[in-house]
Amino acid sequence: MNTQTSSAAQLTDGMHIIVRSLLENGLDKMYGVVGIPVTDLARIGQAKGIRYIGMRHESDAGNAAAAEGFLTGKPGVFLTVSAPGFLNGLVPLKEATENCWPVIMISGSSERELVDLGEGDYEGLDQLNYAKPFCKAAYRIDKPEDIAVGVARAIRAAVSGRPGGVYLDVPAALLGATMDQAAAEATIYKVNNPAPAMIPSQESVTDALKLLSTAKNPLIFLGKGAAYAQCDDLIRKFIEETGIPFLPMSMAKGLLPDDHPLSAASARGLAMRTADVVMMIGARLNWMLNFGKGRHWNENVKFIQLDIDPMEIDNSRKIDAPIVGDIKSSMTLLVEGLKDIPVKASQDWQKLLDADKVKNDAKFSTRVTTVTNPMNHYNALGAVKKVFDKNPDLYLVNEGANTLDDCRDIVNMQLPRHRLDCGTWGVMGVGLEYAIGAAITTGKSVVSIHGDSAFGFDGMEVETICRYKLPVCVMVFNNGGIYRGDFPNLGDNGDPSPLTLDATAHYEKMMEAFGGKGYFATTPEEVEQFMTEAIASKKPAMINVQLSIHSGVESGHIGNLNPQPVTGPLAETNLKKASSK
Ligand code: ADP
Ligand code: MG
Repeated sequence: MNTQTSSAAQLTDGMHIIVRSLLENGLDKMYGVVGIPVTDLARIGQAKGIRYIGMRHESDAGNAAAAEGFLTGKPGVFLTVSAPGFLNGLVPLKEATENCWPVIMISGSSERELVDLGEGDYEGLDQLNYAKPFCKAAYRIDKPEDIAVGVARAIRAAVSGRPGGVYLDVPAALLGATMDQAAAEATIYKVNNPAPAMIPSQESVTDALKLLSTAKNPLIFLGKGAAYAQCDDLIRKFIEETGIPFLPMSMAKGLLPDDHPLSAASARGLAMRTADVVMMIGARLNWMLNFGKGRHWNENVKFIQLDIDPMEIDNSRKIDAPIVGDIKSSMTLLVEGLKDIPVKASQDWQKLLDADKVKNDAKFSTRVTTVTNPMNHYNALGAVKKVFDKNPDLYLVNEGANTLDDCRDIVNMQLPRHRLDCGTWGVMGVGLEYAIGAAITTGKSVVSIHGDSAFGFDGMEVETICRYKLPVCVMVFNNGGIYRGDFPNLGDNGDPSPLTLDATAHYEKMMEAFGGKGYFATTPEEVEQFMTEAIASKKPAMINVQLSIHSGVESGHIGNLNPQPVTGPLAETNLKKASSK
């Protein structure tokens, strides 16, 4: 009588096997937006011990997962429905790949045979092929007995070598496919050593140390690859033993504290123009560093570059001493190598930089302490800086144009991997999700600082922050526009200008709508007080930081990337408008 039940009890399905494979590999979190055909995958995951974070847009889910990937070195996992949900997920998949962060995007897809014949299935799309250009690797699993291997391939592709985004296509037919439970269980396995050490050649390490030992003005750049590598002590040891000044890229801030005596951050321009040997540790010579050439750099500069990806070397200019390997192994050999090839930066070089630091620090401190009414970016961020100085274990998420550039310069970080921002592409609309990913991954308090324009891309995630009761303090720097709020409509129809947003908006009420606490700050004292209160509460909060609509410069520090019209009103107005605060 019970034969049917007992034979059914011995079967399992694709969804259960996927969940088992993820959990077996320690992938116990999943961000996503559910719907056909993946709803039950999320529900089963939750039942079996995956922490599922339901978000409001697939792009946001992808960014939250990517933040987890950066912070932990394990792939973050996110889930989307087919076609439109899948397409939304491609943006963060590509962003994670550009950032070299490990993430796995799992998307449900429609019936293969209907898609392949173009018969017009519900949300039918050839997803596997669409995904390929947007990630490091893309796979489809067609049979339940292949799930464990499919998950293993996704994990390995995401974290080995240069990390990146991986797409895993799971057709509805696979999700519902059944298999004998015991046979399925026998396929499950934990990937052994998914990111094996990649040890560089001893010769390359020796060459680099020799070059460094000849330098008059050596300089080290730390990038987010160095932060990702999680060998903070080795990097610190190398820098302190050699006395070489360092410059952190934005997400490498805190690898050594920003107020470390060897930080050249406030003498950055001089350091770059004067350094004769520069050692890049997990940082690329891309647009952010003017490709390692041009007026920002000493024309005779020589480069040492540590990177896991051999194809990164000579990306934009000659690299004199490449060290290809993982940063931990490379730094281990470099620290050991100092015994045979000692390197010591000169006091003169340090003194030169120190003098410049004193001068620039004074300029900055005047800016952040000058009182204006309404506030500007500088004095508002001066208040933020005070709170971070007192609470070094806060995570900082930061996006915007001026809000990004000025915050990066003003707010010091003390601890590694505590800052997430727009990243390699300089994108907006990632902040709330990075904050969610950071809060979920670490359980720590996060301060998430956005320009009013950046906030607009993903503002609905405020609801997610409240639903999961995350200790996130969202701050919107409201100057009423993209870059700033005072650009005129150059036509005559009376509409707002393309850059204009609402400077009188009360963004904090969005947080109140979902049960969090809203604050409206008009002075630096209020910013400091509200932040302090919000952090202490460990509950969702949001501060609308009311700035002057005149605060900010067009495109922040990268206005030079805008093409300039040669005729018409913009030729005169736009350039004049991009004046100082
Ligand atoms: P930033 O934007 O901070 O300058 P980038 O993202 O441009 O940093 O550079 C990071 C670099 O670090 C990439 O070229 C990537 O290949 C490299 N990388 C990432 N992880 C490792 C690792 N574990 N070991 C060595 N290099 C790594
Ligand atoms: Mg703005």
